[in-house]
Amino acid sequence: MKEETPLVDQLEKGPWPSYVKEIKRAAKKNAAAKDLLGVQELSFKDKVTHWKHGGIVGVTGYGGGVIGRYSDVPHLFPNVESFHTLRVNHPAGWFYSTKKLRQLCDVWERYGSSLTNFHGSTGDIILLGTTTANLQPCFDALTEVGFDLGGSGSALRTLTACVGPARCEWTNINTLDLVHNLTMEFQDEIHRPRWPYKFKIKISGCPNDCVAAIARADLTIIGTWRDSLKIDQKAVKEYVKAGFDVKGLVVDKCPTNALKWDEKTKKLRVVPQDCVRCMHCINKMTKAIRPGLDKGATLLIGGKAPILKGAMLSSVIVPFMKVEPPYTEIKELVRKIWDWWDENGRTRERVGELIERLGMRNFLKAVGLKPTPQMIKAPRANPYVFF
Ligand code: SF4
Repeated sequence: MKEETPLVDQLEKGPWPSYVKEIKRAAKKNAAAKDLLGVQELSFKDKVTHWKHGGIVGVTGYGGGVIGRYSDVPHLFPNVESFHTLRVNHPAGWFYSTKKLRQLCDVWERYGSSLTNFHGSTGDIILLGTTTANLQPCFDALTEVGFDLGGSGSALRTLTACVGPARCEWTNINTLDLVHNLTMEFQDEIHRPRWPYKFKIKISGCPNDCVAAIARADLTIIGTWRDSLKIDQKAVKEYVKAGFDVKGLVVDKCPTNALKWDEKTKKLRVVPQDCVRCMHCINKMTKAIRPGLDKGATLLIGGKAPILKGAMLSSVIVPFMKVEPPYTEIKELVRKIWDWWDENGRTRERVGELIERLGMRNFLKAVGLKPTPQMIKAPRANPYVFF
């Protein structure tokens, strides 16, 4: 195999684990994986991709979840003539039992290339490469063992959340329950693409934002608190005793100058109305500072990677909302947002871009939200709404 793919082999030479090594392992048993190496070698040689956009492929009743891939050199590599990717909806928090993982791999060995990607940047389990004929039986087998396809195309994409209460003490909301509940509620929107473009919902339990929701999601839900963060003065003194520079590393780094430090008494105080819940002080002094007790979430709109327009971070539309089952308030708001976007959006226009085109004022009016001072285009600048 080494002689056959000299260019691809280069990718095994770096210090990091190489996907080429994994494809070669799979190629010993699987003809599609072997041809995949051949196509890649040819692409490197020709300096063009040999994958082309094909028609729409899918499984019965679903419009999304499968990304069609066809090779333009099937005569050379017949085993990857079609090499479709399946997006499989991951469990909330990405927790699996070994039994479930085995079942999943068994299905994929039977119907696909046996190559996987755990997890794609969408969050889904990515099953890389199967034929058109194998799609439906593969989907049926996946359903048998309890997995469903995720979203693709102009649909609601597979919802994602951080591990939240399963492993993190800072979460302010039950991210796992929320992501599961919304996934169940919006099954139609995930499986049947019918919008101008994709829509993503991502949920982080605290402003550390471990799923990078603010940069990637059209609707970003970030757990926060409404009251004041809690400071344990005894624990603060322990930090000082251990030589920790509270003033230099915490107080002086607070972005809004909300922390006050008394050098004499070694007391740390917060001015709650100045705190923007950035998590910096909590991250630095985990034993002494905790989020407040009145917990909920901030909702933001419009995050996206560059496609039609450049990358955008999402911005606040609801500064604070209580987040409790059955999450009716969130669901109603999301539906109103979809209605407005679906009605007004151009093809391939994300909701954030539509808001830029038609204005935040029109958006707020349409979804029934009142303008608030927290709605800004960029921190400490550019208010959308003038008071
Ligand atoms: Fe300052 Fe951020 Fe701590 Fe609030 S959470 S007091 S803004 S460092």
